[in-house]
Amino acid sequence: MAYETLKQEIIEYSKSIGVDKIGFAPANEFAELKSKLKLQEDSGFKSGFEKGSIAERTEPARLMSEAQSIIAIAIAYPSRLKNAPKSVKGDRRGLFCRASWGKDYHHVLREKLELLGTFIKEKVEGFDYKPMVDTGELSDRAVAERAGIGFSGKNCAIITPEFGSYVYLGEMITNIPFPSDQPVDDGCGECTKCIDNCPTGALVEGGRLNAQKCIAFLTQTKGFLDDEYRGIIGNQLYGFDTCQVVCPKNKHVDFHLHAELEPDPELVKPKLIPLLSMSNREFKEKFGDMAGSWRGKKPIQRNAIIALAHYKEISAVADLIRVMQKDPRPVIRGTAAWALGKIGTREAFDAIKVAREIELDEEVIIEMEKGLNFQYVSN
Ligand code: SF4
Repeated sequence: MAYETLKQEIIEYSKSIGVDKIGFAPANEFAELKSKLKLQEDSGFKSGFEKGSIAERTEPARLMSEAQSIIAIAIAYPSRLKNAPKSVKGDRRGLFCRASWGKDYHHVLREKLELLGTFIKEKVEGFDYKPMVDTGELSDRAVAERAGIGFSGKNCAIITPEFGSYVYLGEMITNIPFPSDQPVDDGCGECTKCIDNCPTGALVEGGRLNAQKCIAFLTQTKGFLDDEYRGIIGNQLYGFDTCQVVCPKNKHVDFHLHAELEPDPELVKPKLIPLLSMSNREFKEKFGDMAGSWRGKKPIQRNAIIALAHYKEISAVADLIRVMQKDPRPVIRGTAAWALGKIGTREAFDAIKVAREIELDEEVIIEMEKGLNFQYVSN
């Protein structure tokens, strides 16, 4: 079978299974990416979540010896939350970023890639493929760029002409030499909005991200959050969208094409106080199908505590005191102590002083001292 004909059949089939954009790229080495990754590593800008060595991440043939081409897919996700519940005094709410709305996209894209793989297998004897979504060795963005899905913006996202940057990406390495698609021209021009609006200066220059300063990354860490970021994270429980929201290419972009990607407002903007006392089982039952739950409940709870401090939410004082006194995890106890000081009521200060007398963990004690150094506000 001529590969161009097969390619057209795959494109048609992909539409029928809900793939919003598909592109084909050769599977040769990503030479430019290799030097970029080396620079990221040397600069200390990696997140630590990356999989594989630089060689594995840039040479598809290391992942599949017969690699000939890569098929890239994109699925559009919504950017606006309809019927968003209000976060009001006494009943504050946190926020999951858009990439965590709806069913975990890793599963959604994997299902599509498996359907595509099965479809091609039925047509071509000996067809082999290796699918990946986000957590594989290859850079989804580098593949998508080469396959003509979109251009790589200065905000480090792939920006498609059709759906802006609100797309999930996935790919499969194949052993078929499909005809390639042309990359999309870079469309950022002189714009620097994402760089200018990044609150931590994580976008060090166009297209380069210091993951260690990126709020989206910091919301996923499990230790104490550095003081300098606690005031910036606001009510964000997972991820951060500012560099996408300010992008003019995303203006008026809001696609609701997939029922499984529709956000449940109560899940993506949950009440903060109930998060503090949630068991592992309850967390899994409630948030387990969301991409934002992949690091477990600890970072979400830590961020919820910081969000309550951000709001100076007096109604949370009793719950925060209980957490500071009883939670077995030092990060949670310490962050609660810090938050109590930030909220600053007499009850909060008194509770920190009492807990300080019996606390044994050095890091928690440091947080308690920080809490006690805040200004007393009122009851
Ligand atoms: Fe490019 Fe401007 Fe969008 Fe940043 S905000 S990705 S510079 S178009």
